[in-house]
Amino acid sequence: MEYVSTRGEAPILDFEDVLLAGLARDGGLYLPARWPTFEPDKIASFAGRPFADVAVEVIHPFVGNSLGREALGEMTREAYGSFGHKAVTPLVQIDTNRFILELFHGPTLAFKDVAMQLLARMMDHVLQKRGGRATIVGATSGDTGGAAIEAFRGASNVDVFVLFPEGRVSDVQRRMMTTPPEANVHAIAVRGTFDDCQAQVKAMFNNHAFRDRVQLSGVNSINWARIVAQITYYFVAAAALGAPHRRVSFSVPTGNFGDIFAGYVAKKMGLPIEHLVIASNENDILPRTLDTGAYEMREVMATTSPSMDIQISSNFERYLFEASGRDADGVRRQMDALKQARRFDLNKKVAAAMGGDFLAASAGAADVVSTVRRVMSEAQYLVEPHTACGVHAADQALAGQDRDIAEVVLATAHPAKFPDAMEDFTGQRPALPKRLDALMSDPERFAVLDNDQAVIEAFVEENARKITG
Ligand SMILES: *Cc1c(COP(=O)(O)O)cnc(C)c1O
Repeated sequence: MEYVSTRGEAPILDFEDVLLAGLARDGGLYLPARWPTFEPDKIASFAGRPFADVAVEVIHPFVGNSLGREALGEMTREAYGSFGHKAVTPLVQIDTNRFILELFHGPTLAFKDVAMQLLARMMDHVLQKRGGRATIVGATSGDTGGAAIEAFRGASNVDVFVLFPEGRVSDVQRRMMTTPPEANVHAIAVRGTFDDCQAQVKAMFNNHAFRDRVQLSGVNSINWARIVAQITYYFVAAAALGAPHRRVSFSVPTGNFGDIFAGYVAKKMGLPIEHLVIASNENDILPRTLDTGAYEMREVMATTSPSMDIQISSNFERYLFEASGRDADGVRRQMDALKQARRFDLNKKVAAAMGGDFLAASAGAADVVSTVRRVMSEAQYLVEPHTACGVHAADQALAGQDRDIAEVVLATAHPAKFPDAMEDFTGQRPALPKRLDALMSDPERFAVLDNDQAVIEAFVEENARKITG
């Protein structure tokens, strides 16, 4: 499979190079040159199969000859063997036609594990094959850092450094980054904010000499391999509910637009998805865009669903490219406008397509509280704040939907990751799953560094185990 950049000026790459590159050299995002499709019989055959097997079926067409089926099968079995539920992403019914797709049974209790666990194995495998090494540097406001460290701990050919703002992540989030003892993972508390951490990562990528010396690589949500790995659970869930004979709608708590874009791809591949609902919190740039046709940044507001507190949905660029008929020049102009003026208008074609491809709704603070309480009292089921936004958006957007269509809300985190909010809303503090018992007592290891590029770069170079050219 060949991959093209949304901005049309980067070289065409194969899956392996896209995996290692992350962002395209022209600043764009990579997409496959064409969409593989599945016949209805094939989709039906996914029902009841192990998650890791369906993952191979779904992912293999995207990797082509880069990774053989056998190697891919080994990686998916290992990646999903690390999950705390045999079904990997089980469905829980909370109403006649409403289901919760639990994506939080991975090692860090966040849906990011689904993609990161596989991405790490793919990267290590490709580097092993090529005799190369990589240094991954990322910034986190909480969830992504732990998922990355968990996924890469013990990888033979990769060193991982995660920058987090000192004192500004929760104890659970910090401990997920600081307790793994493996020598290739490093948590760095930066004396600064999350924005400082992010700026430091950007600066390291822009320091080309450093970047080449340490073979810098990224695993943030614009990495195509992360999207691919998320397509699997749309097929698994829909097939379990009777697809392709029965139609299914999904409501997706959305931040960077990666998760819901994976759903959009599943639909392109032939999965009969009726509606895809963009669920936002008060940071509602996408619902506003759907409403007005203008993509317009505002100030980020802090909410109880912090992983959705963003104003630029990076992966939306992939949708703009696709919905415009792959108009790379148009995408480039819009991204320039966004940088200059913090806004751009969708062209008519994209605005019309978006109205057909997505529904959207946002949840305010009061909606989140009332949704958590209502689901608890009606279904004795506890949803955390991100998932509550998904339930609320499904209520709003799917209200008139044909009752034969199954409604699936993606649960993107475990309630125990947000114990304070949950206690506030329900009076009860959810416990961490038993398998995480050691987390709160294991010894921690992390560096505390000044918000200074030279200091951080020196730390990375000293601690990356063995850097070869
Ligand atoms: C990352 C994240 C999201 C948003 O997913 P995107 O792919 O960025 O849209 C939603 N909920 C939780 C808990 C997350 O960690």
